Amino acid sequence: MSVRERLAIIRSNIDEACHRVGRDNNDVRIIAVTKYVSIERAKEAVVAGVADLGENRDDGLLQKYEAIGKEATWHFIGTLQSRKVKNVIDKIDYLHSLDRLSLAQEIEKRATKPIKCFVQVNVSGEETKHGLSSEQVLPFIEQLRNFTKIEVVGLMTMAPYTDDEQLLRRCFRELKQLQQRVQALHIANAPCTELSMGMSNDYVIAVEEGATFIRIGSALVGEE
Ligand SMILES: *Cc1c(COP(=O)(O)O)cnc(C)c1O
Repeated sequence: MSVRERLAIIRSNIDEACHRVGRDNNDVRIIAVTKYVSIERAKEAVVAGVADLGENRDDGLLQKYEAIGKEATWHFIGTLQSRKVKNVIDKIDYLHSLDRLSLAQEIEKRATKPIKCFVQVNVSGEETKHGLSSEQVLPFIEQLRNFTKIEVVGLMTMAPYTDDEQLLRRCFRELKQLQQRVQALHIANAPCTELSMGMSNDYVIAVEEGATFIRIGSALVGEE
């Protein structure tokens, strides 16, 4: 199936999910996660109408950025090692994986403009997952108050890989509750209006629970 056909299915699923819970479908942005696929396939996504592209490695991001450039909005969605910050920071628009102070400090040092960041939260507490625990999120964001190159636009999580709908909903709801607590702090560089949650297997539930950015790889561009 072409990216265009897959996109039509995903959009219609999003529309239905929004309709069920009374949300505006314009509030859900699709990020095409192109980490598994070629430059050509990534371009196909842009042509089909998804100009938000997500990569999880610095080399993958740089390769695709070289080829596609400013036509796309660039999202870095994977763990970012501090020593790699300088390679990618001026290419990306959004970082979905801010998870430690040392990374924030490196961004503060290297970026030439404010970077829209999501603080990554390990809501499920799975050991294999990156991100702060829920308890760490507010104190962490407090520590970023005086950073001029970090804007905390929202929170991001990866739910467990499961078809247990209730478990998925609990994860997404917890992220949303945390978001509301961050907003209540009224920190100038932490508006925290966005929720990056939902992937190929769970985006419908994520949209029902309030996702504003969904990160879709295999269901949209495929896996090779
Ligand atoms: C790979 C990846 C995705 C997309 O995964 P799919 O299941 O293929 O949609 C989303 N978010 C992150 C952080 C990823 O690493």
